[in-house]
Amino acid sequence: MTDSPGRAVPEDASTAVGCLIAGEWVSDGRQADRVGPWTRSVVSTARQADERDVETALGYARRGAKAVARMSPAARAGVLERAAAEALARRDELARLLALELGKPVKDGRGEIDRVADTFAVSAAEARRVGGEVLPVAGWARGVGNTALTYRAPVGVALAITPFNAPANLLAHKLAASFAAGNTTIVKPPPQAPASSAAVVRLLLDAGMPPEAVQVLHGGGPVGAALSAAPEVGVISFTGSPGTGAAVARAAGAKRLVLELGGNAATIVCEDADIAAAARICAATGYSNSGQSCISVQRVYVHRSRYQEFLDAFTLAVEKLNVGDPLDAATDVGSMVDDDAAERVVSWAHEAADAGATITTGGRRDGATVIPTVVASPPPDARLVREEVFGAAVAVRPFDDFDDVLTTCNDSRYGLQAGLFTHDMRRIVTAWRELEVGGLIVNGSSNYRLDHVPFGGVKDSGFGREAPRWMIDDYTVVKTLMLRGISLFGDQEDAR
Ligand code: NAD
Repeated sequence: MTDSPGRAVPEDASTAVGCLIAGEWVSDGRQADRVGPWTRSVVSTARQADERDVETALGYARRGAKAVARMSPAARAGVLERAAAEALARRDELARLLALELGKPVKDGRGEIDRVADTFAVSAAEARRVGGEVLPVAGWARGVGNTALTYRAPVGVALAITPFNAPANLLAHKLAASFAAGNTTIVKPPPQAPASSAAVVRLLLDAGMPPEAVQVLHGGGPVGAALSAAPEVGVISFTGSPGTGAAVARAAGAKRLVLELGGNAATIVCEDADIAAAARICAATGYSNSGQSCISVQRVYVHRSRYQEFLDAFTLAVEKLNVGDPLDAATDVGSMVDDDAAERVVSWAHEAADAGATITTGGRRDGATVIPTVVASPPPDARLVREEVFGAAVAVRPFDDFDDVLTTCNDSRYGLQAGLFTHDMRRIVTAWRELEVGGLIVNGSSNYRLDHVPFGGVKDSGFGREAPRWMIDDYTVVKTLMLRGISLFGDQEDAR
C-alpha cells in the first residue's frame, strides 16, 4: 500500500458552482470544496444550501409546478431533444469533470454522457405518450349508461436525490422523466460531484427548460433530509445506499417514494459457456468505474468443471486492464471516490484471504486507486461475498449444481441484477423465475443496462423501476373523470 505524491493538475481544473434557487444561480454563502481523488487538489467548490434556501426552493417549486404543467408535451419533448444533442456536443467537457471530481476514467465518462443523451431522447419520446384511457365501465351493471376516462396528471413537485457513482446519467433519468411528466424538480446532487451534476442541469436549461422546472440545492444529508420531509414534495426518487434510503423513507412519511439502492450482484458461468468471452466480459464490467456501480460484477460462480480455466482467463484479463490517470483516454480503471473507500475494498480482500481465499491479482491500492483485485474461493460469509463491496474487487467461487447456485445467489439481502452465461434455455427460464432480482442478463454479466429498459431491485436493493416510461408512472397520478348519463358503449338492456 502506497500513497502517491501529487499528480500533475491541469491549470483550469477547478470549477465553482452555485445553487440554483428560484431561477437564480446563487454563489455567495457557505462553500464546500471537493478534492479530486486522483489529482488530490480542489477540483470544484459548491455553494451549500441552508434551511432558508430549502424553504425558498419549496415555495418556488409549488408555484413553478403549475407553469411546468401548462407547457405542452411537444414543448417539453423539444427541450429534451435539444438537451440530448447538447450532451453529445459537450461530451468531452462533461467526461473531464467526472474524471476530476470522481477519478472516473474519461472512457467511462464519455460512455455515461452518451447515455445521458439517450436518457433525454427516450424521455422526449415518452413525454409525447403520456395520456389516459376511456374505460369500458358499462361492462358491469352499475356502470351502464356512464363513461369514465382517466389521464395521468403530474404530481407537482418532485425531489431527486442522486449518488456519486453515476451522477450525470442518474440525474438525467430523474430530472428528464419528471419534466416529461410535467413536474418541477428539486435536485439534491451528491457532495462528491457538484460540478458534474450542475453541468447536466445546464444542458437542459440551455436547451430551453424553463427556470420553474428545476432547482439545485447542494449539500449533504441534512439538506436531503429536510427536502425529503417537506410536505410540498409529492414524490421522491432516491438512488443511494440502503441505509440512506431507509432514512429518506422515514423522513418522507406517507409520500410517494422510489428507492434505487445497493447490490452485491452475482454472475453465473455454466459449464456450456464460452469461458473466454465470459472472462473478458466479467473483467471489463467488474472493474469499470472501479467497480462503483450498483450492478458491478461482485460474485462470480463458475461450474467446477470450468472453474480453473475461468479463473486463469479472468485473472489474465484483469491484469491487462490499464490502471492509472482517469484523464488519459487509454485508462480502464481510475481511482475510487476517496482513499477510505479504496482502503475498505483492499481490507475486505485481505480479510477473505485470511479466511482461506487466494488473491490471484491486485489486493493493494495506490492512494484512492485500487489495483484490480481477484479473490478466488472466499468463504461464503466473507464480507466481500455478503455485503456490497462497491469497488474494484471480484470474488470467484466454484459451484456443482445449478439449482444450488441459484439458492446461493439468492442468499443475499440484495437483489438488483444477475448475469448468466449459458445457452441452455431451460436454465435461462428457471433462473429468470427463481432468482430474486429485478433483472437477469443472459450471456452477459450483471453489469449491463439499457436506459429505456426497466431497471431496479427487490429486497434491500429497493423498489421502483427506473427508465423513462416506468418513471413517468411514478411521477404522475391517475385522475378519473366519471360522466354519468353519457354512454359511449350502449345502454340498452337487450337489443332483441
Ligand atoms: P449515499 O447513500 O451515501 O448518498 C446518496 C445521496 O443521498 C447523496 O446525494 C447524499 O448526499 C444523500 N443523503 C445522505 N444522507 C441523506 C439523508 N439523511 N436524507 C436524504 N439524503 C441524504 O450513497 P452514495 O455513496 O453516494 O452512492 C453509493 C450507493 O448508491 C451504493 O449503495 C450503490 O449501490 C447505490 N446505487 C444504486 C443504484 C441503483 O440504481 N439501484 C445506482 C447507483 C448507485
